[in-house]
Amino acid sequence: MPDIQKTAENLRELGYTVRIFDTKEAAADYLDGAIDQTTVGFGGCQTAQQMGLYERLEKHNEVHWHWVKGEGERELAMNTEVYITSANALAESGEIVNIDGAGNRVSSTLFGHEKVYFVVGRNKLTEDYDAALWRARNVAAPKRAQSMGKKTPCAIRADRCYDCKSPERICRGLVVLWGPMMGFETEIVLIDEDLGM
Ligand code: SF4
Repeated sequence: MPDIQKTAENLRELGYTVRIFDTKEAAADYLDGAIDQTTVGFGGCQTAQQMGLYERLEKHNEVHWHWVKGEGERELAMNTEVYITSANALAESGEIVNIDGAGNRVSSTLFGHEKVYFVVGRNKLTEDYDAALWRARNVAAPKRAQSMGKKTPCAIRADRCYDCKSPERICRGLVVLWGPMMGFETEIVLIDEDLGM
């Protein structure tokens, strides 16, 4: 079983800012206080949705999220000072794995913001990099395809990836962060609860 404290230690060694919270409410309280009077973009992120982050942050920030306000928000969210997303998997050794279809979410974790937050539930943690890659492809992506009602083989049972060639394939690119990108701060908010897919 991956250890959340050890994961945090390894992430800090890599140069990330890391905070751990017992509950999504405590993590949301922290972010609500830390992110104020700025512009915020969200990537597709069920974890943030479960935390109610949009509703809290939009009271005192300019917030853009295509899940709330429609497709036009994707581009606006790419030009904010702060960006919030989750991970499809996070290895105890510190690699963060994300798969994307449109690319806005993964590209925003690489460039273009003053600060990026990853909000990550304990269910996303894996023992090593290989397991993180496996989880992203065989757990997170099929569940996401199923939740979106995609016509892909994985969406029927959300049991594994079938490496499909479907026109509705949601897995178009995979990004692995080996460490925080240069030029801006990346903070990992670890939450000791199961959140997201
Ligand atoms: S590649 Fe296709 S089958 Fe595999 S998870 Fe993505 S959408 Fe599903």
